[in-house]
Amino acid sequence: MKKWAIATLLSMYTCSSYAANPAITDVFTADPAPIVVDDTVYVYVGRDEAAIDQGYTMNEWLVYSSKDMVNWQSHGSPLRPTDFTWSSGAAWAGHVIEKNGKFYWYTTSDHKTIHGKAIGVAVSDSPTGPFKDARGSALVTNDMTKATAISWDDIDPAAFIDDDGQAWLYWGNQKAYYAKLKDNMIELDGPIHVVPDEQVKGFTEAPWIHKKGDTYYLSYAVGFPEKTAYSTAKSITGPWKYQGLIAEGAANSNTIHQGIIDFKGKSYFFYHTGMMQHPETGGSFRRSMAIDYLHYNSDGTLKKVIQTSEGVAPVK
Ligand code: CA
Repeated sequence: MKKWAIATLLSMYTCSSYAANPAITDVFTADPAPIVVDDTVYVYVGRDEAAIDQGYTMNEWLVYSSKDMVNWQSHGSPLRPTDFTWSSGAAWAGHVIEKNGKFYWYTTSDHKTIHGKAIGVAVSDSPTGPFKDARGSALVTNDMTKATAISWDDIDPAAFIDDDGQAWLYWGNQKAYYAKLKDNMIELDGPIHVVPDEQVKGFTEAPWIHKKGDTYYLSYAVGFPEKTAYSTAKSITGPWKYQGLIAEGAANSNTIHQGIIDFKGKSYFFYHTGMMQHPETGGSFRRSMAIDYLHYNSDGTLKKVIQTSEGVAPVK
């Protein structure tokens, strides 16, 4: 075999065994929220449908799954904002979490009668749906939080179940809010708290909670255009200690919206960029999911994520 033929074969092999970022290119996929269920990663995204510079146009959420972090299978749209009778639309960021074999999808969308964004919760017996409104009303509405005067401070829910089984919900824009969830996962249990500003310096939005060892990590978008910062704590309720940046801004996008999971021995940082070029051109309102590795220092702090166009290697 000629040398060029071997080189071509090697390059084909390399192309097919590595992902690229963006990781999904059939449609635009914003605000990725990954979870691991057994040997599969599911990721929940909002579909950007805007023309270039049109502003956010998002009418449905989508689900994808992968067993190797490289090949992503579409499961279509098992939930739309209008599936909530109280919502007038806008498929903004959400987060799915499993409890006792049920999957709870906390969502952001517009409320029909209470001005502003609201958080809903849908439920399914399967990570791919179909999902149904679990309450018939919003879980959090704009009038329930008043730490800022804006109408979009009740967005970007992130759920977390602590080791004692207690579930918590974090969310926010400009202010980071959190509250206990009842055992049924569809009602708040007690008051809504505000994380003090100095514990989440520069907080813009997109909180995400994960735990490694005995340390709780609260990562979030900071500034605008956004970067990703994080704080750590020894308890889900803080106090949180600001630790600095994990990620610089996402290429060609004002927002970044991270999600963090461990899968088969490695840690991954999901985010979105405006870097899709085919079949369509990306941007701040035409975002696409990207995945890179997340690495920990020996003291539990996080190394900065290196954002790549190559993506991550397939998991065996
Ligand atoms: Ca509010």
